[in-house]
Amino acid sequence: MLQNHMTQKAVSIMTLGCRVNQYESDSVASKLKENNIKIVPFGEKCDIAVINTCTVTSESDKKSRQMIHRALLFADHVVVTGCYAQISGDEESKNSSVTYFRGNSGKAGLADTVMNILAGINEPKVDIGKPDNTSAVESILETPMRTRSYIKIEDGCNNSCSYCLIHTARGPVRSKSPETVLKEAEILSTKGNAEIILTGIETASYGLDFQNRRPYGYHLADLITEINKIESVKRIGIASLDPSVFTDYFTETVAKAEKLLPHFHISLQSGSSRILASMKRKYNRDMALKSFERIKKNIPDATFSADIIVGYPGETDEDFDDTLSICEQIQFLHLHIFPYSKRIGTPAAEMKDQIPAQIKKERLKRLSELGLASKEKILDDYVKSHTESPVFVLVEKADAKSYKGHSEHFAEVIAENAGERPKVGDIVPTVLTHYDEKYVYGRHKMP
Ligand code: SF4
Repeated sequence: MLQNHMTQKAVSIMTLGCRVNQYESDSVASKLKENNIKIVPFGEKCDIAVINTCTVTSESDKKSRQMIHRALLFADHVVVTGCYAQISGDEESKNSSVTYFRGNSGKAGLADTVMNILAGINEPKVDIGKPDNTSAVESILETPMRTRSYIKIEDGCNNSCSYCLIHTARGPVRSKSPETVLKEAEILSTKGNAEIILTGIETASYGLDFQNRRPYGYHLADLITEINKIESVKRIGIASLDPSVFTDYFTETVAKAEKLLPHFHISLQSGSSRILASMKRKYNRDMALKSFERIKKNIPDATFSADIIVGYPGETDEDFDDTLSICEQIQFLHLHIFPYSKRIGTPAAEMKDQIPAQIKKERLKRLSELGLASKEKILDDYVKSHTESPVFVLVEKADAKSYKGHSEHFAEVIAENAGERPKVGDIVPTVLTHYDEKYVYGRHKMP
C-alpha cells in the first residue's frame, strides 16, 4: 500500500511469446493495480517499463532486444524478465542501461521488485537464478485481465527436443496443485470469465511431478473433469498439446467433459517420422495419425490447429511431402508454420545439413497455400452445418450493430446483433451465413 501516499506511478508491460508469459505479465499487472499503480500502454512515458521476453526463435531474441532498446527511450527504468533474460540476461546486462534483469523463477516476486524500484529501493542489477522455483507455479491470478482467462497449470518441460531452448529457460516440470487450479478457475469464472484456458510450457506434462505420478496426460484429463464440475465455468480450452497425449484414457475422459471446447491445438511439428525422430519428439507419423483418429472417434466435431516447423536440418523433399500429406489428411483450421530457426546451444544448431533459407521460404509458401485451402474447406462445411443450428461465440468486441469473437471450434466470427446488444464476455448463439479467407459471418440467433 506504499503507493497510496505518493503520486500515482505508471508502469507499462510489453509481453512477447507464449500464453504462459502473458499469464505471468497479467499476474504482475494485477498486483501492481491492487497497489494503486497505473498500467499504461507500451510506448507511453512511464516510471518503469517491464519487458517480458521470449527466446523461442532467433527472431524472438531480436524482438526482445528491440523492445528493450525502445523502452529505454521512454521509461525512467527498464526491467527485463522472461526466457530471453533467463538465457542471455547475464550477457545482455553488461554495459546495459537496464535497471534490473530477472529470470523466470523470480517472476512471482516481480511486482514487489517493481514497487521497490518505484520507491527508490536499490535492487541488484541482475537476478537470473535457476528456473526451478515451485512457489512461482502456485501463485494465482485473482482478477480477470481479459475476455477469457488463461490459467497457468504448469511450468517447465522434461523433454529435450533437439531444436528447443525452452526447457533450459523454464527448467523441469512443476505443476500447480489441482486444489489451486480449481480455486483459481472458480475465482476467475465467478468474476466474469466464463471461458478458462489451461496453459503451460508443456501442458500435457501436467502432474508428471506429483508424488502419485501416472502416465503422460493422466492428471490433465482428471483436472479437466474436475474443472468441468465448477458451475461458473462455462467453457474449458487447452493450450497446445503434443500428439502423444491423446491416449484412449485421455481422449475418452476429456470427451465426457461437455464444457471442453472441441478444438485442439497440436504441436505436430512434422509429418515425417525420420524428422520427428531427429527432433527427439515422443511420437512418429503413425502415432500422430492414430491420435487424431482417437479424437475424432470420441469428439466427432473436433477441429484442429497445428504448429509445424519447415526446413528442419536434414529435411528432404520426401520428408516435406510427408508433412504436406499429413496436413492434407487431417485438415487443419489454422496452421502455424515456422521456418526452422537455429538456436545456439541446441543439438539441431550443430547439425551439418542445415536447409538453405530459399528452400525454407518455398516450403513455407507451399504449406501455407495448403493450409488456406484446408481452412476454406472446413469453413465451407462449418457454415453449411450451422445455418440453423447455432455455434456459440464468446464475445470479444461488441458495438451497436455487431459483435466479434471465437466460436467453440475456434473459428473467428463476426455477427450482426438481433435485439439486445451482447456484452463482451457473453456467450452468444449465432447462426452462420458466409465466410471469407479470414472470418465467418452470421447473426445472433434469438431464442
Ligand atoms: S516439448 Fe520440446 S519443444 Fe516443447 S518446450 Fe519441451 S523441449 Fe521445447
